[in-house]
Amino acid sequence: MKIRVDFDALWRSVEMMGASDRDFRFSAVNKGELAIDAELERGIEVDLDNLETTSGLLSYQGRQVLLYIPDQGRRISEVLESPEKGKKFHVAECNTLDAMRSRGRFERYVVTNDMSGVFSVSGTDPVAGYQEGKAELCVCKNCLKFLNYQGYQKGGPGKSSIFEGFTLERFFKTYSTRFRSLPSRFTDRGGGYSEDWQQISQSFRAKRDWTCENCLVNLADERRLLHTHHVDGNKRNNESSNLKALCVDCHRKQPMHGTMMIKNNDMATIQRRRKQQGVLADSGSWDEVLDLIDSAYEGVALKLLREGHPAPEVAADILDGDKGVILTPELSWPAKKRAIVDTGAQVQLLETAGWRAQLVTQVLQR
Ligand SMILES: [Zn+2]
Ligand SMILES: [Zn+2]
Ligand SMILES: [Zn+2]
Repeated sequence: MKIRVDFDALWRSVEMMGASDRDFRFSAVNKGELAIDAELERGIEVDLDNLETTSGLLSYQGRQVLLYIPDQGRRISEVLESPEKGKKFHVAECNTLDAMRSRGRFERYVVTNDMSGVFSVSGTDPVAGYQEGKAELCVCKNCLKFLNYQGYQKGGPGKSSIFEGFTLERFFKTYSTRFRSLPSRFTDRGGGYSEDWQQISQSFRAKRDWTCENCLVNLADERRLLHTHHVDGNKRNNESSNLKALCVDCHRKQPMHGTMMIKNNDMATIQRRRKQQGVLADSGSWDEVLDLIDSAYEGVALKLLREGHPAPEVAADILDGDKGVILTPELSWPAKKRAIVDTGAQVQLLETAGWRAQLVTQVLQR
């Protein structure tokens, strides 16, 4: 029996939903998952009490989200004119949210993973009456402080440039490893390359011995995690002086790579290889740590550095007798049996093994 499947129709609908057609696997095209992504992009109304968090970040069904209030009340005309005066959107479990919670739920709260930064707002102006429109709202500063995003807690002039330079794309990318599912449209669409690109990239990376030119990790056995980067940003300039072999982690840290996200298990693979190959030296310097850690831990690392702690080990395996490896925290001090972890369950797990662990959110809030 011959089974005919109309893939064209499938692709058309996948494309219509804004999903990417790269990295295609049958399991990935799950109707329910795509429906959640499409719904989340439009925005889903939530009850503040049911808001989920992951290491202090807002989440919905395993995806990273932001929260905003569409109703701008009496100030709607002003907000449409000067969006920076509008109600801020939230990206973390900040104290403003606590305050809103205790005031009760009088407002409509919407979560979304739309990264355009443009929000649908409405309200009733005492003079002009009901109005609605789009506004580029600003991020909540308490959220940036909560996460020590890019070192925001330090204050000083750096603070305002972090706020002014904030983009949702970069923010979501920073924390992509913390979430179970990455919406498919966030993956690189692969447009703009020359036709022979696959071949050029393949032979270029082979010439570089499948080694990242930045962190020196060798990915000969995980070739998909090594990319060929265009230094000048022009995807058609394939001069070898314009190409650089970079592991996915070093690649996403390049400027102008806002939407390049990395999955948790891929980051773990890269850290494991770096460790095995001695790229992640034991007790290196803070500079080295900041260069090589998963960017989701940058805020907490900058805080520890400012508090004067010695540089931690990155992605060291913690062993417990015959149980083998029980956890691989991003930041730990094996000699002192101390580690920074994400969940209460991980704290307990390490405590039973004679370690002392602290939550990322605890360090950020002290
Ligand atoms: Zn906030
Ligand atoms: Zn690298
Ligand atoms: Zn690149």
